[in-house]
Amino acid sequence: MAYDSNNVFAKILRGEIPCKKVHEDEYTLAFHDIAPQAPVHVLVIPKGAYTSMDDFTAQASDAEIAGLFRAVTKVAEMVGVKDDGWRLLSNIGANGGQEVPHLHVHIFGGRRLGRMVP
Ligand code: IMP
Repeated sequence: MAYDSNNVFAKILRGEIPCKKVHEDEYTLAFHDIAPQAPVHVLVIPKGAYTSMDDFTAQASDAEIAGLFRAVTKVAEMVGVKDDGWRLLSNIGANGGQEVPHLHVHIFGGRRLGRMVP
């Protein structure tokens, strides 16, 4: 599937719509989810134009891939969930329930989370 540069996270990356930024570095941007599902609910996205984990792992450089995952753990620490435990989630494609077609991982935490059931 071709990347759609009109998606909401592409607009956030271009500064066309605002976000509640948590962290930014060379490879990633992290911001609070607009409809939080837990006391802490942050999204981390790569700056590159990737639709999901599928094209990201196939096409991104090793530095971009490492950059995303290093940023995730750094953000978890920044928002205060690292010590008590937290959840990392990425929805991929239609069956995965992905709504925004720019790769993003969710960080959830701040309370005991329910069991994941498909
Ligand atoms: P998905 O189902 O994994 O694609 O989740 C997309 C997430 O993006 C949802 O949790 C939405 O609440 C969130 N979201 C959508 N638009 C915005 C926005 O403009 N700012 C922050 N989060 C957003």
